[in-house]
Amino acid sequence: MTEIKPEILEKMRRFAENFAKKSGTVINPNKEAAEAVIQGLAAHVQELGKPLCPCNFYPDKQEEIKRRRWICACDEMQALKYCHCLLFTTEEGLPITEYLPEWHEGRQIYGLVKDPTPDKGRALARPEKIYEILKEYVVEHNLDIPDEEIWEWAYKVAKKK
Ligand code: SF4
Repeated sequence: MTEIKPEILEKMRRFAENFAKKSGTVINPNKEAAEAVIQGLAAHVQELGKPLCPCNFYPDKQEEIKRRRWICACDEMQALKYCHCLLFTTEEGLPITEYLPEWHEGRQIYGLVKDPTPDKGRALARPEKIYEILKEYVVEHNLDIPDEEIWEWAYKVAKKK
């Protein structure tokens, strides 16, 4: 495996610290877990020029970069404040799941984890964006969830202006 350049690693550490502050989360107190994600992000910066999320499988990384949804901080994080890599968490090291519907794996794995800082983060929490993210999730996971239900949830958890 190619060694990651220290300046890229440092840049990703700084990015993670700044984004955690901005979004009202913390970097996972489990330092090993956090470092593994930061290393994965840095490896993608070195390989691809972008911090593509290291916790997914991509059939075509270049195509995925064009779509942008999994470039850190990803759409799920910016709309639903959910980091499935467990990099941006609560003080207890849990991912925030409050804005996910019950059929989302985040809710099924971690239960309901409330957002301790609802006034911070979620820059993309508009109903249309939330619908788009959840609709993709439903299609990719082959779930039978009616459109109306996805819209209803999207409006329920959208950030009120
Ligand atoms: S899940 Fe999203 S926010 Fe978390 S590390 Fe991956 S891209 Fe970044």
